[in-house]
Amino acid sequence: MGFTVNRRKTRTCMVGDRPVGGDHLVAVQTMTKTKTWDVDGTLRQIRGAQDKGVDIVRVACPDDKSAAALPAIIAGSRVPIIADIHFAPGLALKALEAGVHCVRINPGNIKLELVQKIVALAKDKGAAIRIGVNSGSIMPRKGLEVKQDMELEMADLMVDTAVQWCEQFDKWGFHNFKVSLKSSDVLTTIYTNRRFAQQTDVPLHLGVTEAGMLQASTVKSSIGLGTLLGEGIGDTIRVSITGDPLDEVDVGYEILSALRLRKKNVEIVACPSCGRDEVDGGVETLARQVEERLRDYKGNITVSVLGCIVNGPGEAAEADLGIAGAKDAGYLFKGEQILRRVPNEKLVDELMIELYKLEKRTRRRSSQPRAIE
Ligand code: SF4
Repeated sequence: MGFTVNRRKTRTCMVGDRPVGGDHLVAVQTMTKTKTWDVDGTLRQIRGAQDKGVDIVRVACPDDKSAAALPAIIAGSRVPIIADIHFAPGLALKALEAGVHCVRINPGNIKLELVQKIVALAKDKGAAIRIGVNSGSIMPRKGLEVKQDMELEMADLMVDTAVQWCEQFDKWGFHNFKVSLKSSDVLTTIYTNRRFAQQTDVPLHLGVTEAGMLQASTVKSSIGLGTLLGEGIGDTIRVSITGDPLDEVDVGYEILSALRLRKKNVEIVACPSCGRDEVDGGVETLARQVEERLRDYKGNITVSVLGCIVNGPGEAAEADLGIAGAKDAGYLFKGEQILRRVPNEKLVDELMIELYKLEKRTRRRSSQPRAIE
């Protein structure tokens, strides 16, 4: 059995054919960074993210030109598309008419009768709504001094606002929605989502907004999202990175896989290296080669890459296959068993040969008829 995260019980929100919440795997999202009216460029990013395993993609919809591009984007994407509207009700209606699977709105910035109109159209079209409450739209502007108690008050206000919108949507007879409570502050993100989770069964989209470049965002998102996910809170995530959206998907999967909430196809367990490292150019070079060779591998495999075998192959016993550097010739191993010694420059090639042998055996076993019990 081992350790597992007990997920919070939520209702399910359908974003196209992708269920979010309930017992479903936590969905990984990203957002395109292209001009949405650039259909080819946007679809190129969506397809790249699809190849990485993204579940849902959000596109910005700031103007009519972008809304007009939505039908072509939806037609060209294998994953559901969310149009990010924020506070322009007219665009939300256009996006829903165009067939988006979900619109992300900040209802606090829209007149009530127009929110109701958006909700009615979403219901009619079978689309979902993400109620987005951002600290930026509630908290005082950056640069102003925020006293400790005021910070707490504002965070509570975010939660209360989101809860009230949920109650309003339910009263209108619309239940296919999820909520995001986003802040660029990690502690506020944790506090607001925890508090919201105690009060409703509405699925939560998690993210730390404006989290920065790859390294800063990875740290902030791992702490913010990781803390909540570890407590079972969160049904879909987006890691916001100032940079490549494909990195957002990769980091999202890393966080979920660290908590055993999702399994990546390929897991590379590499040691950090130290003075015992026997690999030419260091274990990092070897790990990068393995990563490159497994980039398009579609099976499920955990590979361990060690700089030396000082602690024995048992160090990476959870891996299916592994390689370790050693003087003159390294080791190739399967689980804890050493298969053979291999010249260091051939380690990756031999690893790939073993991997395909293993895959062939697994395929043969799974195609054999099962005994009748
Ligand atoms: S496996 Fe070897 S090289 Fe890697 S960190 Fe451990 S002792 Fe150092």
